Amino acid sequence: MASKRDYYDILEVNKDATEDQIKQSFRSLARKYHPDKNPNDAEAESNFKEIQEAYAILSNPEERRKYDVFGHERPGGSPFGSRGFQGVDINFDDLFGGGFESIFSQFFGSQQGDRSRGSDLLVRHSVPFQAAMDGLEDELEIEALKDCDGCNGLGSSKDGGSRPCPSCEGRGRIDEISMIGPFRQRVRKDCAPCRGSGRLVSDPCNDCGGNGRAPQSIRVKFFVTPGIASGNRLRMRNQGEASSSLNGPPGDLYIEIEVEPHPWFERDGSDLLMALPLSFADLTLGTTVEIPHIDSETLLIKVPPSSNPGETILISGRGLPRNHLRPNRGSVTVVLRLQSPKKPSRKLKKKIDEIRAELEDSIPPIEDRIKDEARLRRGR
Ligand SMILES: [Zn+2]
Ligand SMILES: [Zn+2]
Repeated sequence: MASKRDYYDILEVNKDATEDQIKQSFRSLARKYHPDKNPNDAEAESNFKEIQEAYAILSNPEERRKYDVFGHERPGGSPFGSRGFQGVDINFDDLFGGGFESIFSQFFGSQQGDRSRGSDLLVRHSVPFQAAMDGLEDELEIEALKDCDGCNGLGSSKDGGSRPCPSCEGRGRIDEISMIGPFRQRVRKDCAPCRGSGRLVSDPCNDCGGNGRAPQSIRVKFFVTPGIASGNRLRMRNQGEASSSLNGPPGDLYIEIEVEPHPWFERDGSDLLMALPLSFADLTLGTTVEIPHIDSETLLIKVPPSSNPGETILISGRGLPRNHLRPNRGSVTVVLRLQSPKKPSRKLKKKIDEIRAELEDSIPPIEDRIKDEARLRRGR
């Protein structure tokens, strides 16, 4: 038997690929090898199975971790059981949406067992720039499907008005074995009699109509850690949507943070960058500029004499915290710029004109200047 190929190679992704990259790659490969597109093509069929297996493992954080450690030789044998991976049926149409996700999420036994988990929620939330420096205790209000207050999520407020569904024993899911082409497949489906809820309601609650869930607005408190950057996600366990089935665990809430821009700093991780426009006199004679700073200490920028626009001044240790665990800070880089007067008065023009010849004499001839500048620019 040929040796088993590496799952990452199969999905054509790097070892450090994100969940999204893995999903995208799987989706495009699955479209390419889908049996609907390759009827009676044994090679495409086996490729399709192979990418499914790789995706089943790599899309599951826990299984992926085990694979990263042990490779194919993990203790306890194949995670798919003694017969190994059998392939699953995925609608070609589902490859365009996200319809295949639930198939893969049900492969491996997880903490929540058979019960279906509530949906995860994602909300975006913006915080002032200062939060990246100091951290921030914050809160927001979300509207989410939660267990109904009127019936505590049971679907009925009356005793005996709701009972666990006997067909699925309250799980809301049932397993069916079916043959799909050459694949023997276990399909987990919503239980029909209770429509996946795990309960039969004879006397529905007035508030939720027997659904057990109702939209509620809730306040969520959270802490934004110093060093946070736009796109970072906070995960609030069990704060997502309530499960649609009886006793099923709730989903998680993800808060995606957007850090508002600073009035003058650009940000590169924990390093900050700003431009400082100065007059010709300040650049030539040197100066010290004081500006208010994010750490509430004044930022002193010492501009040495004979400075030129485009030169930079590095102030280390005054950028943002690297993160809340390592509180040392990045740097501030100041790029010098020249700010010429927009409308100099006649008097000022006259004065500058008077020193023009003297200035010209105090710097090298024009061709030398041009060459010097080119050499500097080229870094030698
Ligand atoms: Zn049922
Ligand atoms: Zn209710």
